[in-house]
Amino acid sequence: MDEKKELTRGEELRRALCYNKKNGYDRMNPQEMEPLEAYCTGYKQFLDAGKTERECVERAVALAKDAGFRPYERGMELKPGDKIYRVNRGKAVMLAVMGQENLDKGANIGAAHIDSPRLDLKQNPLYEADELSFLKTHYYGGLRKYQWVTIPLELHGVVALKNGEVIRVSVGNGEGDPKFTIDDLLPHLGVEQSKKALSEAIPAESLNILVGSRPLADDEGSDRVKIAILELLNRKYGIVEEDFISAELSAVPAFNACDIGFDRSLIGAYGHDDRVCGYACLAALLQLDTPRRTAVCMLADKEEIGSEGVTGMKSAAFDAFMADLCAGQGVPLRVCYEASFCLSADVTAAYDPNFADVYEKRNSALVNYGVGLCKYTGARGKSGASDADAETVAYIRNLFDEAGVIWQIAELGKVDAGGGGTVALDISRMNADVIDVGVPVLSMHSPFEVVSKLDVYMAYKGFKAYFEAE
Ligand code: MN
Ligand code: MN
Repeated sequence: MDEKKELTRGEELRRALCYNKKNGYDRMNPQEMEPLEAYCTGYKQFLDAGKTERECVERAVALAKDAGFRPYERGMELKPGDKIYRVNRGKAVMLAVMGQENLDKGANIGAAHIDSPRLDLKQNPLYEADELSFLKTHYYGGLRKYQWVTIPLELHGVVALKNGEVIRVSVGNGEGDPKFTIDDLLPHLGVEQSKKALSEAIPAESLNILVGSRPLADDEGSDRVKIAILELLNRKYGIVEEDFISAELSAVPAFNACDIGFDRSLIGAYGHDDRVCGYACLAALLQLDTPRRTAVCMLADKEEIGSEGVTGMKSAAFDAFMADLCAGQGVPLRVCYEASFCLSADVTAAYDPNFADVYEKRNSALVNYGVGLCKYTGARGKSGASDADAETVAYIRNLFDEAGVIWQIAELGKVDAGGGGTVALDISRMNADVIDVGVPVLSMHSPFEVVSKLDVYMAYKGFKAYFEAE
């Protein structure tokens, strides 16, 4: 057989002109499988250690310290290659590696969020009903309530006492720890409930966490189960019921990250959104030596509830950090910002063949096709999108191609099927160029989200190429 068979004119044109999408595994160098697995192992450890934004900050800081980062203090003198971080109230963290160029040439910023949808305890959470004890919750972020019942839950957070002491709580992920759950109706008695819309079948006020059933012994009074629970809490944490008022406790799924599939090609876990991008940005930053431009990683809180709040992307905390760095070089913040670039890193919806009708396949992110580039997010005619300009998309396209990053263009589902936003909008207000990138996720915002290892690794590789760009 002649292997150099002449191409037909049609084949030639197709090869030369058509955009040909290919599965990442058909494009990736097989030698990358080893670093890919190693990276994913580190990522799974990060997920297991960080079930809340506070825990993610602690883990990020620990990794940063190991990589030679120091806490930044205002006025600190910095030289190229210096590695610093600043924690915002324990719930967000900003890290930077100072570049060879001054900040008037701009910074390369990566911004992701480390908060994830969950069930927060109310400030008066504990009660007893018919000799069972429960905790009332107020859900945080956009979640589908029916997915959060009858799964094991862990409790994480802090109780701040009046004397200023802050007590850490983490129950459910330690060896031999008890877990919690929210009960649901049995099918035998669920006839009426089953007729309701998914959004109504589990009302928010029924998301009450079961925390105990054993009554206080030798007692004739009321609420004996609740009193017994309070006694346990008092013994373990030194707290009384009123202390819940100044507590921040969250119930999160009691699953650790694990491989999914016979081929182990996927990772199932709680909180991929958006720790999968946060970790990619962080891991790439931690490896930097002295980049040309100052590299900055922002791990923000509160994105799932609109980025408001003092630890969210809309807070002036990021501006303050950047302004302090600029002040050290006599550069006005606005001059730095207008020359800066930002990858707003947040997950996107992966095309799901089981729910194909809400996706437009031509423009959806496919599992294993690489990290997603989103020109725009938003809903109803791009409302609420920052909509990166063509030049910005071209810059990243080229950068990723040059570095062998497998990527795809991604749009979150069909037009008018729904929508979503990211912190890109907040970055655009700083007058910096910004584009969304992110890992495609199946079952986004569910207790157990799924991502592909190849896509996870490519997000990291993308950040590395971005921060190291010449
Ligand atoms: Mn997100
Ligand atoms: Mn989200």
